[in-house]
This record gives sequence, C-alpha cells and structure tokens, in this order.
Amino acid sequence: MNRKKIVAGNWKMNMTIDQSNELINKLSLISVNDVEIKIAPSFINLHKAVSLLINSEIEVVAQNVHSEERGAFTGEVSNEMLKSIGVNSVIIGHSERRKFFNETDDVLSKKVKAAINNSMIVIFCVGEELSERESRNHFELIKTQINSGLSDLNNDEIKNIIIAYEPVWAIGTGMTANTEQIQEMHEFIRGLICEKYGDDISAMIRILYGGSVKPNNAKDIFLLRDVDGGLIGGASLNFYDFQSIVNAANGS
Ligand code: PEP
Repeated sequence: MNRKKIVAGNWKMNMTIDQSNELINKLSLISVNDVEIKIAPSFINLHKAVSLLINSEIEVVAQNVHSEERGAFTGEVSNEMLKSIGVNSVIIGHSERRKFFNETDDVLSKKVKAAINNSMIVIFCVGEELSERESRNHFELIKTQINSGLSDLNNDEIKNIIIAYEPVWAIGTGMTANTEQIQEMHEFIRGLICEKYGDDISAMIRILYGGSVKPNNAKDIFLLRDVDGGLIGGASLNFYDFQSIVNAANGS
C-alpha cells in the first residue's frame, strides 16, 4: 500500500502572533509535492494561521482539545470551537501532555473518542520513557497506550487516526532512536492495528516518528518501511530545517 507521507510541525508553546505569521508566510511557499504538510501552532495563533493558509495545501492542527462539548471547564477548548475556525485535526496524547498535565490513558481515550465523534482527524502520540526501554518494558507500554487510547474506535473511526511514535527520551534531546529501534516499534504498532482491525486497515494507517528529527537524519528515517513521515518539534520552528525535512519526505 502506498501511504502518503506526512510532515507535521508541533510548535508547542512557541511563537507570538507576529512570529507565527512570518513563519507561515514562508511556509506557504514550500512545494508540497507528494507530502501532506501540517503545522500545529498554539491556540492563540490557530485562527490567523487558517486564514493565511486558506489557499495552501498546508493544514492547521490544534495541539490539544477537551473531551467535553462545552461548559464550566475554564481554560479549555472544544472540538466544536476548533471546527468553527476551520481546524479539523488535533494532536492528542503528546508526552508533554501526559507528563506535565497528568493526561492518563483514560483521559486520552475520552479525548480521542470526542474528537472522532466530531469528525476530527487525530494525531495520537505514544512513546516510552528511557527507563521503560531499559527495563525492556517498552513494547508492553506502547501496547497499553494504543489499546486504551484507541479502545472504543470501530473500523471506520480508526481510519481518522494517525499514530505518532515518539520515544520520550528522544524528544527535544537531540538523541534520535536508531533506525532499527524505529522500524521495529512501527512494525509492532502496525501489528497491533492489524490484530484488531485486519490487514487492509493496518496497511493504510499512517505511523509517524517523532523525536529529534532533523534535516540530517530525516531521509534515513523516512525510508523505513513502516514510517510514514514525522512529527517534528524543534526543527519545525526554523523554516529552512522544516523545508529540508519536507524535501526528505518527498525523497529529494
Ligand atoms: C515533539 O515534540 O513532538 C518532538 C518530536 O520534538 P523534537 O522534534 O524537538 O524532538
């Protein structure tokens, strides 16, 4: 199956509105070719990002969403609000949300279900800590994260999920997982999807790698059989780095 590659930039808590607009104006000149490009600015910058990219193929993604439809949840944003400004995709389960905001598998499963019920595309992140890998518990951990986070989804709903494997020890550290570690985990994750949803669906689900993807390692990572692109943190804040990672995904 020929899966279209995705390069998604997670801007985290970076970029004022002026900085965001400036980077977006440069990004809109990138030739997309055969890659899906996505950027995830902060909530504050989403609306403007959508309007700047209205005639572009670059998609704007939210970094988070609440599981409830509306109500007394101070500081939170709903799927309906995101959709009302033209944002139709969201990152759920990033390790920083799990770690700093106590988002458990149970919380994440509710968020995923709510987003999918609202016809959102979800980039669902999973990943182990270094201690879990060192104690050889990483496959079991990823299995739990996938099985609980995506527990309630039927065969149609799972098609709106993009999985991002992001070993926590490789995020923002400059320490990338090696290509064997990446391929074996991506194959394992595809196998989990296959067990539950069968060959056809597992062959079409895109699995991104995230964790210190840079211009100098992107090509080798994107060549791996079960890698369908990357979720990029630090390097997505720099136009030239991001452009060169997109080029790597395009095979050039
Ligand atoms: C991320 O935050 O999803 C990420 C992969 O960050 P970095 O590329 O900086 O490691």
